[in-house]
Amino acid sequence: MSVTGLPPYDPQNIFARILRGEIPCKKVHEDEFALAFHDINPLAPTHVLVIPKGPYVSAADFHAGATTEEIAGFWRAVGAVAKSLGLEQPGHRLITNMGPHSGQEVPHFHVHILGGRPLGRMLT
Ligand code: 5GP
Repeated sequence: MSVTGLPPYDPQNIFARILRGEIPCKKVHEDEFALAFHDINPLAPTHVLVIPKGPYVSAADFHAGATTEEIAGFWRAVGAVAKSLGLEQPGHRLITNMGPHSGQEVPHFHVHILGGRPLGRMLT
């Protein structure tokens, strides 16, 4: 079981299949630690997902199981992607859902980068 109570990592999840190139994506960045691509159902003018290359169900699993190098490399990639998309100013939102109460749909850790319009106060 994963840290957040989800089932163990499923290598057939949709983001694992995107990582293996079995399903296409609109890629915006790829490096040793991360892949970033546009969300298929964008909730803002810019809505990009950043995923680590390793098999982690959620952020909790990632932070518990990944090496310091993987963690640093991943979060650096998140920052680099936001910057490359022109979102550093006037700002953007990072979201990661973790486990059943969050409504996490895809059981491969991912960070949503949302921006391109005023997003208002954080919603539940
Ligand atoms: P979660 O609810 O797990 O935090 O977010 C999953 C996100 O993945 C959703 O925003 C959804 O639109 C996106 N998504 C689901 N399937 C696909 C897909 O096949 N390709 C892409 N690019 N995004 C997907």
